[in-house]
Amino acid sequence: MKDGEKLMKWMQSIQNHIYWTAASSTTGPERVAKWTSILNHVLDIHTHEDPVFPRCLHPQRQTRDKKKWMEAGTPAFYKLEKVMTNKRILKDVSHPQTSSLEDFHRAIQRFAPKSIEFPFLGLLCRLYLAGLYYNENADQMAECSAKPVKTKPTFRYVDDLMDLIFEKVFVDPSPYLDEVLKISIPEDLCAQNDPPDTERRSQEEGLLFNLRGTRRCIKEARISAEMEICGDIQVKELNKRTSGQAFEVILSPSTPDAKSEFPLTPLKKKETSLDEIKRKLEAAEERRKSYEAEVLKHLAEKREHEKEVIQKAIEEECNFSKLAKEKLNQKMEANKENRTARMAALNEKFKEKDKKLEEVRKNKETMKEVEN
Ligand SMILES: [Zn+2]
Repeated sequence: MKDGEKLMKWMQSIQNHIYWTAASSTTGPERVAKWTSILNHVLDIHTHEDPVFPRCLHPQRQTRDKKKWMEAGTPAFYKLEKVMTNKRILKDVSHPQTSSLEDFHRAIQRFAPKSIEFPFLGLLCRLYLAGLYYNENADQMAECSAKPVKTKPTFRYVDDLMDLIFEKVFVDPSPYLDEVLKISIPEDLCAQNDPPDTERRSQEEGLLFNLRGTRRCIKEARISAEMEICGDIQVKELNKRTSGQAFEVILSPSTPDAKSEFPLTPLKKKETSLDEIKRKLEAAEERRKSYEAEVLKHLAEKREHEKEVIQKAIEEECNFSKLAKEKLNQKMEANKENRTARMAALNEKFKEKDKKLEEVRKNKETMKEVEN
């Protein structure tokens, strides 16, 4: 296999590595160290000079497919090295102008921790929530980094959501349900793979083991960190699945002294929220009933209107045929009159012709008499 082809096979891994570098690092030097480590990794070197990232996180083991590793000094590797260590790119890697993006990522990690595997729709909802939270608090979050004093985040979007749910969704869920059903849920990644032949499998394994290994390491590290940081979330490991690990999240009842930078629910409201929810539910039930009555009334009105329209149509039809009949009669009458008039005229003409003929005959007779 040529080095160029090898490089092509590495592209997906390199791309993943770039995302992983951005997502898993907190400092510039850490990003640079992880970023450049891929240059060693593709050469089958997994320990690195930079003390910030001294070795790859994947398990160190012998790969069956040795052909996949690139070789230093080949044109393909030279090109890769040139791109990855380009000065401007390294500067961007070390000081990305993405503080707001990082804030957004932090919000996402709060709502959808990477260590937990959510079903697709669950994850989508969590991303939306993170978006709502971020949109409401983006300015404050930016201020946080500038000022040492932190302002507390606000949760107006939660009230808006509750209002929407109790006033609209609960009353008539069908349009919202339709929207949800329109979302196409992608298949599990592992379900798309055909059972691969051994050669392909070993290649894929080679490509993926870096990713899988690092992902597992991060997962494990994150889980413990996550459990320490937010005391009110418990993560329970479920049966391991082929695609990875699955976890269940249990929100434990909040303790009054729970200190969380981004509480997932507004803490202030928690004491009254149950009563409030009950009240809102009752109000929503009322609204739903009145909405149903409204719908029924509307339907009845519609039916009544339809009846009227049909009645009117029948009447109009009757009137039309009556009118048509009258018109036809009139026409026929007129025709008849015309015909009699024409017949009379014709008769008159015939009579005149007869008269003339008679005259001619008489003249002829008299002329004969004169000759004789
Ligand atoms: Zn490595």
